[in-house]
Formats: sequence, C-alpha cells, structure tokens
Amino acid sequence: MRNINDLMEKAIEFHGHSCPGLAIGVLVSKYILEQGNSFSIDEELVAIVENDNCSVDAIQRLLGTTFGKGNLIFKDYGKNNYTFYNRTSEKAINLRLKNDSKNQQAFSREERIDFIINSDPNDIFNIRETEFNPPQEAQIYDRIICENCQDPTMSTRIKIYNEKKICIPCYLELETKEK
Ligand SMILES: [Zn+2]
Ligand SMILES: [Zn+2]
Repeated sequence: MRNINDLMEKAIEFHGHSCPGLAIGVLVSKYILEQGNSFSIDEELVAIVENDNCSVDAIQRLLGTTFGKGNLIFKDYGKNNYTFYNRTSEKAINLRLKNDSKNQQAFSREERIDFIINSDPNDIFNIRETEFNPPQEAQIYDRIICENCQDPTMSTRIKIYNEKKICIPCYLELETKEK
C-alpha cells in the first residue's frame, strides 16, 4: 500500500490527529518503502531520528521501526533528519529537511499538510545514500536487584554507590541528599 492518502490515514489512526509533522513522516516513509524497503517485522530496518516530534509516529507505524523493538533510535538534536539502515540489503539512506524559505504563516494547517504529502521528497529533503554502519542490534541484558528500592533493573543501568549496586533514580536521590 503506497498510496499517500492511505498511508496518511494509517498514520493518523496511530498518531491521533492529522498535522504537518505527521505528513513529513508519511512522506519519508513512502520514500523509504519505494526504495525497496518493507515494513520491519523484526529489526531488518533501523531508523535513526533526530527529533521526537509527530513525524516519528508515522515512521513507527508505517515502517515498523519502533521504540519497543529497539530499531528506532532517537538522537535529541532537534532536527528533521532521518537515517535508515537496511540490514538485509546493507544500504543506508539519509534524508535531511531542507530550509523552507516559504512563509509558513501564509498557509493554513490543511494547506501545509496537503502541500507536504503531494510533494516530491527530493523537493522537501536533501536525500543521499550513506555509509552502511548501523548500530548494534538490541540486546537483552541481565537484571540486577537495586539494593536500595529492590526494583529489578537492567545491568547496564546499575550504578555503584557506597559499594552498593543501585538504580539510576535511587542514585540521583542519594547523591542529592549528600550535597
Ligand atoms: Zn501531530
Ligand atoms: Zn533503586
């Protein structure tokens, strides 16, 4: 299903509302699907996103690169940039939103949504193939019981405090008390 309106509808169902941000994510997803990628059932496809705005919901829904599976990696850079790694084809694509000089205020929300989903992705983004150096696949780590609150905690998130193994919130709390 590559029809842009159908894709938009699916994305709205997941995201909750229609908005220009979601439209950006739908356009990105459509482009990625057209480049020989398909919905990621496991971790075949990995998305690195540089924002946590509405667009990422479209990407999760339409490409199967999700927070829970670990094939969605969020970098808090505040940019509408997206990189996709396909572990099967070993190809990587990078999309970076172009600087839009048009006066956004002159258009209504609906007009902006319409404009985005009917655009050629190359007009909206700088798109290039990039080096295939995907992040490691998601790992399952042992759990350790926090010696302060007793919560089972992923071993990689355990801190040592006064020779005790404790979780991050406990560590932050104890550390603050000490000051
Ligand atoms: Zn939204
Ligand atoms: Zn704790």
